[in-house]
Amino acid sequence: MFRPVGSLRLEDIRKSYGQTHILQGIDLQAEDGELVVLVGPSGCGKSTLLRTIAGLETPDSGTIHIGDRDVTRLEPKDRDVAMVFQSYALYPHLTVRKNLAFGLELRSTPAEVVDARIREVSAMLGLDALLDRYPRQLSGGQRQRVAMGRAIARRPTLFLFDEPLSNLDAALRNEVRVEVKKLHAQLGATMVYVTHDQVEAMTLADTLVVLNGGQIEQKGAPLDLYATPETRFVAGFMGTPAMNFLAGEVREGTFVAEAGVGGIEARVDTAHEGPVVLGVRPHDLAVDDAGEIELHVEVVEAMGFESYAHGSLGDVHFIARVEARVARGDVLRLKILRSHLFDPDSGARCAR
Ligand code: ADP
Repeated sequence: MFRPVGSLRLEDIRKSYGQTHILQGIDLQAEDGELVVLVGPSGCGKSTLLRTIAGLETPDSGTIHIGDRDVTRLEPKDRDVAMVFQSYALYPHLTVRKNLAFGLELRSTPAEVVDARIREVSAMLGLDALLDRYPRQLSGGQRQRVAMGRAIARRPTLFLFDEPLSNLDAALRNEVRVEVKKLHAQLGATMVYVTHDQVEAMTLADTLVVLNGGQIEQKGAPLDLYATPETRFVAGFMGTPAMNFLAGEVREGTFVAEAGVGGIEARVDTAHEGPVVLGVRPHDLAVDDAGEIELHVEVVEAMGFESYAHGSLGDVHFIARVEARVARGDVLRLKILRSHLFDPDSGARCAR
């Protein structure tokens, strides 16, 4: 199996359209063989950043290195990257075999090498039975597999994925997601993967980069971001259902929720004093008679082995994850097992 060598280094990448600053100084590094996932809400600049790496957009300033080459001013075709799009972008009038061969033949690759690569990629992705079909004769998942195969056949230094699973239905998305992960392990290639789906991001990434408004909010191992979000934005973005937030203040190690939230007081392990936002994941609550929170259940989502109980604390929507059976109208006493504190103005995590 081939082993392309290619780290990626972005330094202070900036890009504006007119007066709108889309990328506001992005510094990012992917080690050779790393799978970096860029995640963030729609419009935060993910695609623009990926297209900038590919050479489809030119940054206003900053540099891009792939391996030890400065590719900032190179044409897309000279960067040795392959991009997989959500729209597959297969040639409709060519068979799967011809689609896989296209990029290689464009580069005048000898026929026997093209054949060998197609055999290899086809075996890797399970495309053998599909090689003589046309794209219209394939399912969405099969088309996306061909699109990935076409990228792999070229053996690029760097793979770029732009929301490749977003056109697939939920079941297929899970299946192809696992395939991408397997492929990455097999190829050991450097990959940058863009998605707005935080589950996809969590499960795929070696390094997760959360973008917000054209800036990096936080980067790191997915479980570190989940356990220790550095900002309220990251805390709210990572995890399903999303983290609950209660406004209040800390006085001598006790969090006191603001009046509208209804008399909640909880011990918090912190030296911080003053106004805060307390974050609690639905999964960090336990049903307990000594709990700090009383939740009147208004809606239940039963998932099978667990349920999400929704209610209101004053005017704040609040969700608890419980394993016991619950029904609308139940009153749950909930104990906070773990919490996070954020500055109400800046959103930054408060030191403990
Ligand atoms: P994401 O991929 O995170 O959804 P994009 O990178 O596609 O975000 O877009 C970021 C922002 O830049 C959006 O507000 C979008 O409207 C704007 N934008 C993208 N491309 C252009 C363009 N060619 N001209 C003007 N604005 C653009």
